[in-house]
Amino acid sequence: MSQYSVAIVGSGPSGASAAFHLAKAGIKTVILEKEILPRYKVCGGGLVYRGRKEMPFDVSDVVDIEFNKIDVYMGKNLHFQTEREEPIVSLVMRDAFDKLIVDKAKELGVDLIQNCKVQKINKVANGIELDTTHGIVKAQFVIAADGVYSQVAKMAGWKEETRNLIPALEYEIEVNDADFERLSKEIRFDIDAIPAGYGWCFPKKNHLSIGVGAILKDDQKIKEYCAEYIKFLGIEEIISIEKHGYQIPVTPRLDGFVKDNVFLIGDAAGFADPLTAEGISNAILSGKLAAEAIASSEGNSEKAAKMYTDIIENTIMPELLTSMKLARLFYGSKVVRKFLLKKYGQRFSEALTDIFMGEKNYPKDVNEKLKEKLKGLVF
Ligand SMILES: Cc1cc2nc3c(=O)[nH]c(=O)nc-3n(C[C@H](O)[C@H](O)[C@H](O)COP(=O)(O)OP(=O)(O)OC[C@H]3O[C@@H](n4cnc5c(N)ncnc54)[C@H](O)[C@@H]3O)c2cc1C
Repeated sequence: MSQYSVAIVGSGPSGASAAFHLAKAGIKTVILEKEILPRYKVCGGGLVYRGRKEMPFDVSDVVDIEFNKIDVYMGKNLHFQTEREEPIVSLVMRDAFDKLIVDKAKELGVDLIQNCKVQKINKVANGIELDTTHGIVKAQFVIAADGVYSQVAKMAGWKEETRNLIPALEYEIEVNDADFERLSKEIRFDIDAIPAGYGWCFPKKNHLSIGVGAILKDDQKIKEYCAEYIKFLGIEEIISIEKHGYQIPVTPRLDGFVKDNVFLIGDAAGFADPLTAEGISNAILSGKLAAEAIASSEGNSEKAAKMYTDIIENTIMPELLTSMKLARLFYGSKVVRKFLLKKYGQRFSEALTDIFMGEKNYPKDVNEKLKEKLKGLVF
């Protein structure tokens, strides 16, 4: 049986980031990952600047392309472009990006056990025993970084009822030179490419990552919408296509983030942004916050739990709760959406860009501000 201070389940950006910061604080840490790295992760790989600037090391080696401009469209007639000095979105392939963070954590002394699925967790004296496909691992603290379907959260007693998971498709598409040339010049978001959601076209080194996400709820016709979106983008010829689907948690857990020495971070905690479904930056941030809480608790479980809970309640949660309100309003009614974009599309895009840049937070008095703007609008 191997023994650690902290066992992290999952090597995505949340788990790898937690591992990096724990190791930096000199804490004996292991990452348990069910796949073998580098592994494909269904994701657009759009790393917004707010996440990129949180990275404690340079990630440019794994960035395919970076964009200082983003383009938001609604149909053929509405188009808004924003521009900043720093890259608003850096496009990565998640296999390379996630592995880079894990490698940096390993350089600081973190152990990585791959091809190692955590199957069961048992509370024991002074910690937790994890039953894995590589035998038993014991740790005082467990960090569940095992993504949206977190089995660790279920095994530790979290309920699924309060969650809202939305479906999203991600197609990795090789197109002909003319289409690649045309579509690789911009990073675009198409509002209403799918009802109550959006589509995206993210150029990578040699192909396009194209996807759609239904932000408010499950949509049975999501594959049809994705096919229509590809046509809408004017793609004539598909040379190769890999189709992937997965879910994104667009509501945070409402039953806490720590139970009996198990800490939830990233998608396991439900930290993707409800309005944009962007999840990498909060994954990185929550990993760091959990690591800092554990590191500064000096082994005191209650203190670590309280510190992590407090910091999440004061940083990530207020943002997510406001974003949830905005998402309901924005995606809940096409009338509102069209009105807001027609009248305030450029301001909306600028505000979203400021959030992507980490320069602004969601406004706290969002209800009042929106009521004012929507006065007179008939639903
Ligand atoms: C289609 C789609 C497009 C997206 N596009 C973007 C985007 O462009 N930008 C953005 O910011 N966000 C995007 N997201 C969201 C983003 O992918 C997630 O928010 C992010 O990956 C969360 O990171 P994580 O570390 O919490 O979990 P994950 O990245 O899901 O990592 C979880 C890890 O845990 C491992 N694991 C799971 N179970 C076990 C187990 N029992 N034992 C051991 N290991 C286990 C998995 O193999 C995996 O490596 C997208 C999501 C989807 C579905």
